[in-house]
Amino acid sequence: MIILSKKHISATLLALGLTILLSCARDTGAKTPLVEANTIAQRLVQQAAAPSVNSPKFGQPIDCTLGKDCFIFHYVDRDPSPTAVDFGCGRQTYNGHDGIDFGIPDEKTMAKGVAVTASAVGKVLRVRDGVVDRRLQNDTDKANIAGTECGNGMVIDHGNGWEAQYCHLRQGSVVVKPGMQVEKGAKLGMVGTSGMTSFPHVHVTFRYQGKVVDPFVGPDAKQGCNTARNPIWDKPIDYIPTGLIRAGFAPKPPDMNAVWQGQFSETQLPANSPALLFWVQSYGVLKGDREQYQLFAPNGQIIATQTKEIQAPNRAWLGYIGKRNNTNSPFSPGVWRAEYRLMRGDRVLLEVKREAELR
Ligand SMILES: [Zn+2]
Repeated sequence: MIILSKKHISATLLALGLTILLSCARDTGAKTPLVEANTIAQRLVQQAAAPSVNSPKFGQPIDCTLGKDCFIFHYVDRDPSPTAVDFGCGRQTYNGHDGIDFGIPDEKTMAKGVAVTASAVGKVLRVRDGVVDRRLQNDTDKANIAGTECGNGMVIDHGNGWEAQYCHLRQGSVVVKPGMQVEKGAKLGMVGTSGMTSFPHVHVTFRYQGKVVDPFVGPDAKQGCNTARNPIWDKPIDYIPTGLIRAGFAPKPPDMNAVWQGQFSETQLPANSPALLFWVQSYGVLKGDREQYQLFAPNGQIIATQTKEIQAPNRAWLGYIGKRNNTNSPFSPGVWRAEYRLMRGDRVLLEVKREAELR
C-alpha cells in the first residue's frame, strides 16, 4: 500500500511539474527555454505513461483451447448501473461481474483435470484451498459460501502495479504457496467449482493499482462498451458471446444439472432405450434467435425436426428434440445422426452435427 501511495504521489507531482513547466514556457515566450521545457515535458509524459507501457502481457489462465474444449462464459460488466453489458455491447456478463470466466464443458472434464495457469510471471501473495466443490443450485447453497465466494484460489503480484486473482479451483488442487515465484504458464491448480459457481470454470480478475481492469479493453478504457480497446492479452482473444458448450444424445429428457455433471456424453445407446433425444447446450442465446433441430434414422429418414424461436435471452441454454421408442416400430439399430443450427437473422451462429450408435 505504501508503494502504491508513493507512486500516486509521484504521478501527481509529475503532472504538477508538467503544468508548471508548460505555464513557464508560455509566460516567458523565450525560444530556448521553451524548447528545453518541451523536451523535459516529453520526458515527463513518457515517465508518467511508463506503468501502462511496461505492463505485462497476460496469457489465458487455463490450459485449453478456446472454442474447442473451453469457452468464455462471462465477461467483465462494464456498466456501473444495475444493467450489465460486456465490452462487445453484449449481455454475456452480469451486474458487478469483475472478471473473466473461462468455462469447461462439465464436471467429468473437471475430474480429469484442466490446469489453471499463471497469466504472467509473478509472486504469489495469498492462497486459499479447502473449500468444497459444489455448483450452487439454490439460496441455501449461496448462503453457505458467504465469505468464500472466490473459493479456492490465489492472488498473484504480476509486477508494475498489476495483480490477478484466480478463483474457484478444485479442492486440494492448489500447488502454490504465498511467497513463491511463478513463471508465466506455470500450473497453479485445477479448474473447479468451489465458491460462488454454477458451472466449472476459473474466474480471473485483473487489477492495476488496485482497480479492476477489463483485459479486453485495458486499464485506460472508459466505462461502457463503446470504448477504445487496448487489450492486455499477449495474443488476441476473440469475442464470442454465443457458443456451444456440449451436445449429445440421451435416453430421457436431459436437464441442465445433469448436463453440467457430464451425463449424456455416450455415443452408444441401447436400441431398447425408452427414447432418443438429441440435446444441445449453448451460451449467450438472445430473444429472437432461431434453433433448428433434426434427427435422422440410420436409413436417412427424418425422424424428428423442429424450429424453435428463443423467447428470452439466456446466458446458459439447453434444448433438445427426440422421439419415444415404440414397441410396434422400435428404433432401428445403427448410426443415428442429428443436426442443429442456431440462427440470428441470416447468420448461422452455431452448427452442430452428432452421431450415436443404437445397438
Ligand atoms: Zn466470474
